[in-house]
Amino acid sequence: MKIDKNISLKEYTTFKIGGDAQFFSIANTKEDLINLLKFAKKESFPITILGGGSNVLISDKGIKGLTIINKYKETNISDIKSRIEISDDKSFYREGEYFKFTDLEEDEKKYAQVIVNVSSGVNLTYLINDLLSKNITGIQYFSAIPGTVGGAIFNNIHGGSKLIGNYLYKAKILTLEGDVEEVDRNFFKFGYDYSVLHENKHILLSSNLVLFKGDVKKARETSIEWLKRKTNIQPKLPSAGSIFKNITDNQREKIGSPVNSAGWVIDQCGLKGEKIGGAQIYDKHANYIVNTGNATEKDVKNLMDKVQNEVYKKFKIKLSPEIIFKS
Ligand SMILES: Cc1cc2nc3c(=O)[nH]c(=O)nc-3n(C[C@H](O)[C@H](O)[C@H](O)COP(=O)(O)OP(=O)(O)OC[C@H]3O[C@@H](n4cnc5c(N)ncnc54)[C@H](O)[C@@H]3O)c2cc1C
Repeated sequence: MKIDKNISLKEYTTFKIGGDAQFFSIANTKEDLINLLKFAKKESFPITILGGGSNVLISDKGIKGLTIINKYKETNISDIKSRIEISDDKSFYREGEYFKFTDLEEDEKKYAQVIVNVSSGVNLTYLINDLLSKNITGIQYFSAIPGTVGGAIFNNIHGGSKLIGNYLYKAKILTLEGDVEEVDRNFFKFGYDYSVLHENKHILLSSNLVLFKGDVKKARETSIEWLKRKTNIQPKLPSAGSIFKNITDNQREKIGSPVNSAGWVIDQCGLKGEKIGGAQIYDKHANYIVNTGNATEKDVKNLMDKVQNEVYKKFKIKLSPEIIFKS
């Protein structure tokens, strides 16, 4: 296990923004994660774990303490003894103006189930394709979402009307005290862009996902089509995905918006193309900020402040950031 000092984190994020990690290490195994946590505890360093760095904005001053890049990659598939009831929470889903989804949706509950035990450092896109090649379906809806399984569970990612947390059955976590615990789905208190990991800062080691021996041909077509729809809209320049959370139903009613999309709200304020330093509101989808080349954390934060202020002036609602700030 190698621990380096003062390593630039830019290249470890999709935004390509941020200063150095004071201390830095790459974890390749569960034991690496456990030992790094022990080391940080002994030295009283704060600890930050990153997967693909696709949902974070890292401070220009860098991250204090130990930053771990999680590359713990293992996948095991096992048959199921008795059927497991999986959640069908769609409470957050509203067909938006950018991505149409309902025609791609399939209820896969009718198919035989399998348990996929996957460690948190596995890349999600790799996992989707690897499972399809083994005739396992269920997570094709999360195509075109960068990052790792750890980051996906942390934020309960959404693909169309599907939430990754719906497929989680059990998981192993590493608590900040250094204990490995097995927890079930309820532990995570999943919500829109939320799991309890936001609060307790435990590290997800691995998850048992309940997936299906489903219609692989259809799942592959869905994956390709969803990827196509998303990549038509998503920026080619570095970004961190949606910057703000979508608005609630109450907020939508209050402002008379046809959709819950934060992008629609920002667009109504005429902010597409708005630029501060190297950060710019993307002109195809107003809820993305792109790094046009040399954007800093400060540029992005100033642009976010501007968006929040303009939206508040026009609609009297406050947009909440979806991206996670790290310092
Ligand atoms: C082009 C683009 C498109 C996107 N599209 C979508 C989309 O459709 N839907 C969607 O929901 N999101 C989307 N995102 C956001 C992002 O890809 C997801 O949130 C992704 O799951 C983050 O995973 P990551 O590994 O990159 O996490 P990171 O960005 O590395 O980390 C994000 C947070 O998760 C925590 N974390 C990471 N791993 C662990 C772990 N093992 N244990 C505990 N905490 C951990 C980190 O500490 C951090 O707080 C998109 C982003 C981009 C750039």
